[in-house]
Amino acid sequence: MTLQTRMQAMVLGRAGAPLEHRELPVPEPAAGEVLLRVLACGVCRTDLHILDGELEAPKLPLVPGHEIVGQVVRAGARVEGIAPGSRVGVPWLGWTCGRCRYCLRGAENLCSFARFTGYTIDGGYADYACADARYCFPIPGRYTPAEAAPLLCAGLIGYRALRIAREALAFPLRRLGLYGFGAAAHLIAQLAAAEGMDVYAFTREQDIEGQAFARRIGAKWAGPSGARPPRELDAALLFAPVGRLVIEALRSVDKGGAVVAAGIHMSEIPAFPYALLWGERTLRSVANLERRDGTAFLDRAPQVPIRTTVRVYPLHAANEALSALRSGQLEGAAVLVPESSVA
Ligand SMILES: [Zn+2]
Ligand SMILES: [Zn+2]
Repeated sequence: MTLQTRMQAMVLGRAGAPLEHRELPVPEPAAGEVLLRVLACGVCRTDLHILDGELEAPKLPLVPGHEIVGQVVRAGARVEGIAPGSRVGVPWLGWTCGRCRYCLRGAENLCSFARFTGYTIDGGYADYACADARYCFPIPGRYTPAEAAPLLCAGLIGYRALRIAREALAFPLRRLGLYGFGAAAHLIAQLAAAEGMDVYAFTREQDIEGQAFARRIGAKWAGPSGARPPRELDAALLFAPVGRLVIEALRSVDKGGAVVAAGIHMSEIPAFPYALLWGERTLRSVANLERRDGTAFLDRAPQVPIRTTVRVYPLHAANEALSALRSGQLEGAAVLVPESSVA
């Protein structure tokens, strides 16, 4: 592999502005890091929240992107167990301190000093990226880089949300609602169906195509987010960043059921009557991921097998991919592939 010194990247200069195409130096891996040639990078709703300034204090200028599938070019000092040439995935959780009270109790996802890929560390909207080797995952062989990319956030966070919903119930989860049928829901619907659950998919009001897509993927029922499902749900996962949906989900969930909000940001939740929460319903959020979620999910995904539906965009079309995500036009997930990886 010829070593390049310059790379193409899509860069956020300031919140609210579109990404700019820039040529940057290829980053140098620090001790503990690997340098990756980016083969594909997924586009996540969190990227929109960063671009829109809804998440505080991103690194600026910033290379976004936290669903990176890359090939290891070389390793910095003190990296063990990752050989050059191997294919790894880089998720949102990029580094944790290992010492704060959250880390010490085994909740690295809540680390007070955590660093996040494509937010406080440069991410994968580029030809190359560096990542702490301890936070990278091996990628299952059955997936192409573009197919694997959405597993790294949409898949992982969806998996964690499903695990937390199950843990919140005092009975087996049989009827699962998914609000917002995008990248995460289309992956978790397959896992849930394979495990014998009935999946109820909720989309934007007029999104007939999205509802048809959900049924094709294995949903037993699909309808608009304001509709009541034919049966009361045991649990609902919220992937759409719309506060009103918390209330819709609580209305659809049975006594003893759980509503889990999986997004990092959501519009304000309107006031609602206590009766919707009463009946021992649980309402909680999911924050970030633990590495064990990644390991467990990436083991499970090829067994199902979970199939990813992706729309591939060249790296320089990142702004287009982001607007398609914003407007809800995507079926499945958008993935950026650098021109250097297409050739
Ligand atoms: Zn910590
Ligand atoms: Zn994400």
